Amino acid sequence: MNILIVDDSDSSRLLLSTILRGAGYEEPLYAKSAGEALTMLEGLCHQQEEPAVDLILMDVVMPDMNGIDATRLIKADRRLRDIPIIIVTVKDEVASLERAFEAGAMDFLAKPVNSMELRARVHSALRLKEEMDQRKARERELEALTRKFEQLSNQDGLTGVPNRRCFENVFRTEWLRARRDGVPLSALMIDIDYFKAYNDTYGHLQGDMCLRRMAEAIRSALKRPGDFVARYGGEEFVVLLPGTDLAGALSIAGAVRANVRAAAIFHEGSPEGGLVTVSIGISGVVPTMNLEPEALLAAADEALYQAKSAGRHRIEVHPLD
Ligand code: GH3
Ligand code: MG
Ligand code: MG
Repeated sequence: MNILIVDDSDSSRLLLSTILRGAGYEEPLYAKSAGEALTMLEGLCHQQEEPAVDLILMDVVMPDMNGIDATRLIKADRRLRDIPIIIVTVKDEVASLERAFEAGAMDFLAKPVNSMELRARVHSALRLKEEMDQRKARERELEALTRKFEQLSNQDGLTGVPNRRCFENVFRTEWLRARRDGVPLSALMIDIDYFKAYNDTYGHLQGDMCLRRMAEAIRSALKRPGDFVARYGGEEFVVLLPGTDLAGALSIAGAVRANVRAAAIFHEGSPEGGLVTVSIGISGVVPTMNLEPEALLAAADEALYQAKSAGRHRIEVHPLD
């Protein structure tokens, strides 16, 4: 594991490194000033996401920038903030310790440095760093697994409604069934209006919450057992209505709109009374042999496009004939 010593005094750096090498650690990295340390860390970041530095021993009194300000800068940097910092300071600077801890230092050592003490502190700081690295690696693994699982499953992880992959399967089956039975099949494309602005204003987590409530608003507008909603893309949902003509589809779209209105999600950037709205494109057809199923979705998408161009917060129908 790599240790960086930041100290303007040659003798201090030499003493620290002698003790550390005596304890079996590899040759540390050195910086003679806070500026040099920051430049070095920055340089190491370019090679990898996070620099291969596992511990910093930071002197307090240095020319230019002091060790406490340097600690604050390091802790404010997303790539560097997990590197533990031990402040090394002479006894009469102890008043500055409080500021050091406030700045994010994890421990301190008094100068003149006691060899036993240095080894003990360095040992436990490095062990903590190692555990943290392992935990982060496990978290990354878990995230990757979750993503993979989502891809394999039929459910959208965020909203709990079926995902696009599931939709493709259901759509094919319903298309064939409607064609055989000679009954209409309708589709709704539903897209949240000004959702990028919503995310930008309220943050991504709140955006996720909004998506869940939209999914629920749509799901609760569906009445028949065969009616089906899926998350089609980021903030876009698709509804399939087997055995339902355009008039029936329009009434479901109206119910979706009413539920979205009732959810009353505040959106200061929305021109519609400051509430989140949706645009809906509808199409429907009695499937035949010389029609591709994709044509139905393309027509619903076309209708959605018209609804957006006409000013959003509306329902448009684009029949397929
Ligand atoms: P329009 O009214 O034309 O539909 O504009 P819009 O801003 O809603 O559409 P745009 O396609 O420009 O932006 C879609 C936004 O949806 C951008 C993206 O960050 C957001 N988004 C997509 N998926 C998710 C998600 O899973 N969670 C969150 N919070 N946001 C998402
Ligand atoms: Mg949108
Ligand atoms: Mg969109």
